[in-house]
Amino acid sequence: MKRTLLPTTLVVLLSVFNYSCSSDEADDKEIICSDSQLGVNCPDTNYINNSDSQYVLPWEIGKTFKVGQGNCTDGSHSLGQVQYAYDIDMPIGTNIVAIRSGVVVKVIENFKDLEIGTVGAIDEANVVHIEHEDGTEAQYIHLTYNGALINEGDDVNQGEIIGLSGNTGKSTGPHLHFHVMQALNECEDTDPRENYTWYSCNSIPLTFKNTSENCYGLLEKNLRSEGYTAQSY
Ligand SMILES: [Zn+2]
Repeated sequence: MKRTLLPTTLVVLLSVFNYSCSSDEADDKEIICSDSQLGVNCPDTNYINNSDSQYVLPWEIGKTFKVGQGNCTDGSHSLGQVQYAYDIDMPIGTNIVAIRSGVVVKVIENFKDLEIGTVGAIDEANVVHIEHEDGTEAQYIHLTYNGALINEGDDVNQGEIIGLSGNTGKSTGPHLHFHVMQALNECEDTDPRENYTWYSCNSIPLTFKNTSENCYGLLEKNLRSEGYTAQSY
């Protein structure tokens, strides 16, 4: 017992010291979010506290999946239009649920899933796009062949199963890529010519209300190997 006393005391002292140090400048969010210093690649981003988020994870309650690629990476989610996308590792055929209610505005499901070890073209991905009431649009990408379970024009409720994950398009393995684009009226007109409009929309940062703490978005599997479990809400 004696041997462990000193290290334990030291650890306690260190954590107290650490806490008092960081709390000087920390806001409420940092105090309640223990993951705030982990894998946060978009440090200037204002993520909505997960407890206030209106989004749910895009998989069924009780299921657990891991994040293959998070936000603001040096990979395909680098700074730019889809910097706030997530790649979720999941086998082909996994039920995908709507992260928020809305209207289906686009469905593509005619592309075949890729052979392992091959990568397809970016415009050969099966997708479902759902527009939310505030004009933002969730885009669910790489769905399996015939993997859309809803049609364009359908109203869908949050949590409703909308499709089956797959491995189509520019994909290196079975996963779901998803992100939410800002509303069109928030997008920048990038065409300098008068009377021409070319909207450049960006993805928006997401947190999720029905899983463990994710105040700064979801962490990749190297930082959170247990993944995230969808809880009832
Ligand atoms: Zn992706």
